[in-house]
Amino acid sequence: MVKLIESLVNFIYPPACPLCDTPVSIHGELCADCWTSFEWISGAKCARCGYPFSTDWEINGVHMCPTCASGNCELDWIRSACVYDAVSRSAMLPFKHGGRVNYARFMSRAMIWALRDTDVDADIVMPVPLANRRMFHRGYNQATLLARPIASALGVPLDYDSVRRTYRPDMGHKNARERALNIHGVFHITKPENIRGKKILLVDDVMTTGATFSELRRALIRAGATAVYGVTFCRIVRAV
Ligand SMILES: [Zn+2]
Ligand SMILES: [Zn+2]
Repeated sequence: MVKLIESLVNFIYPPACPLCDTPVSIHGELCADCWTSFEWISGAKCARCGYPFSTDWEINGVHMCPTCASGNCELDWIRSACVYDAVSRSAMLPFKHGGRVNYARFMSRAMIWALRDTDVDADIVMPVPLANRRMFHRGYNQATLLARPIASALGVPLDYDSVRRTYRPDMGHKNARERALNIHGVFHITKPENIRGKKILLVDDVMTTGATFSELRRALIRAGATAVYGVTFCRIVRAV
């Protein structure tokens, strides 16, 4: 019966690539050309922050980038599916600001793939909260759209209301230090009983300086979380 409904839906709405409308075989999936245009992070990487890092430098048997080796990783570990570049940016903007919520399907699938080399033992999956004022203007939190399928793939609960975020004006073009100052103190744990003793996987669309993750981690650890991990669709990759 499900198969019949599926083929009927496919007949009326033939599956097409969400980015370019080329016919594809499964709803929500990218065509081969669009898929290969992204710079997926598939090779050697830092075991902590996921930074694509191909040398064989290891510290105590762990493949680690210089930033993490100096103890500056924002979370216990972070993974991202692809590099933030012109291609991922052109998908991120309409997803975040243009209502193209259907992109969540291919993005979340890529993020689940990005977790393959981690030993994911998270108790809950949490989208990075959006301030109410932004939520009101945008109508949705793009991180929640990504977190929902990840939570169900991992078989753990989604938690989107234990933390509240205070509104602050856009961080647009600020540098790392200004971003860290701007985000300081914006997260408030409203339901600490959901956080205490938990290992938490944070989900966001993009990682830029990592300031948001650092600040949210601080609030969660203070509330008794035992580990905080992160996964994003894309991340800025700078030379280290
Ligand atoms: Zn396409
Ligand atoms: Zn690293």
